[in-house]
Amino acid sequence: MLIVPEAEIAGLVTAEDAFRAVEGSFAAMARGEAYNFPVIREALGEGRQYGFKSGLDRAGAVMGVKAGGYFPGNMARGMINHQSSVFLFDPETGRPTAMVGGNLLTALRTAAASAISIDRLARKDAKVLGMVGAGHQATFQLRAAAKVRGFEKVIAWNYHPDMLPKLGEVAAELGLPFEAVPLERMVEADVIVTITSSPAASLMDAHVSAGTHLACMGTDTVGKQEVEPALLARARVFTDEVAQSVSIGEAQHAVAGGLIRAEDITPIGAVIAGLAEGRQSDDQITLFDGTGVGLQDLAVASAAVRLAREKGVAREVAV
Ligand code: NAD
Repeated sequence: MLIVPEAEIAGLVTAEDAFRAVEGSFAAMARGEAYNFPVIREALGEGRQYGFKSGLDRAGAVMGVKAGGYFPGNMARGMINHQSSVFLFDPETGRPTAMVGGNLLTALRTAAASAISIDRLARKDAKVLGMVGAGHQATFQLRAAAKVRGFEKVIAWNYHPDMLPKLGEVAAELGLPFEAVPLERMVEADVIVTITSSPAASLMDAHVSAGTHLACMGTDTVGKQEVEPALLARARVFTDEVAQSVSIGEAQHAVAGGLIRAEDITPIGAVIAGLAEGRQSDDQITLFDGTGVGLQDLAVASAAVRLAREKGVAREVAV
């Protein structure tokens, strides 16, 4: 069994590696070659959450689980609050094959999903990127989005405005002008990424112009919400996995309110695999509900294992 510790991931897996791995796993899901097992998520008390995301990709011969969660006391201990590890198994024998640090991989695979949606669904001439959110994930989201379109400007809003300068620094690194704006100015954006832990809608239908692509990435649990449900009714809605989208994703609210149905939501993998249409016109709003699936984690962890082997940095232990 190989161990690829968290500390090695940054030197091994690039945003491009994550993009390719996640795109492949979304397409495998759409072709019926890969599927996610039901998610387990438990509240441990005092704000701590722990759970398991798992799945099987028959074509890629990948099976495994990401175990992890949110531990709000970690910051005070000098660690990040989100902690996770990925375990891979041989799908033929069930033998463990690898344990891979999952913290950076989670950010990379989440940003990759969002970037894949922008690449496939945003207008080619998109120039203004709107960011709603400025936390840990937001910086990865901004970097990944900037790779797939020729953005000329970033506008951003955050519930806690003091967090925005850090996002501005990433925009500066990318050579992009950055402006903190009120939510009403999101009408100027061609692409909007939402990545917050908000319990209620921040971005309203009236804040979004025709032709915009939205990647709604923050809502991954019952009770979280980033955008007004009317926006999903106005948009063509895509997701990583429909079952998660309607239960723990952004679409949970629009579905519960009877504004859209599960059948109205298209898996992004179907677009990648050429089985479904993406954007149908320049003035259509497209919305990707990124809920985060286990197969994304397994795909990037497998890439990390392959790269660790190639570079000779994986640690082998007998099991
Ligand atoms: P973080 O704690 O670093 O940042 C939280 C963000 O949410 C900040 O921008 C903060 O200002 C904002 N926020 C907090 N309370 C808010 C409120 N009441 N209203 C509006 N905004 C509020 O967290 P992070 O690691 O950047 O994660 C952001 C979200 O993304 C979380 O909900 C997390 O669970 C989710 N996430 C989703 C996936 C996925 O695959 N879809 C993967 C990782 C994280």
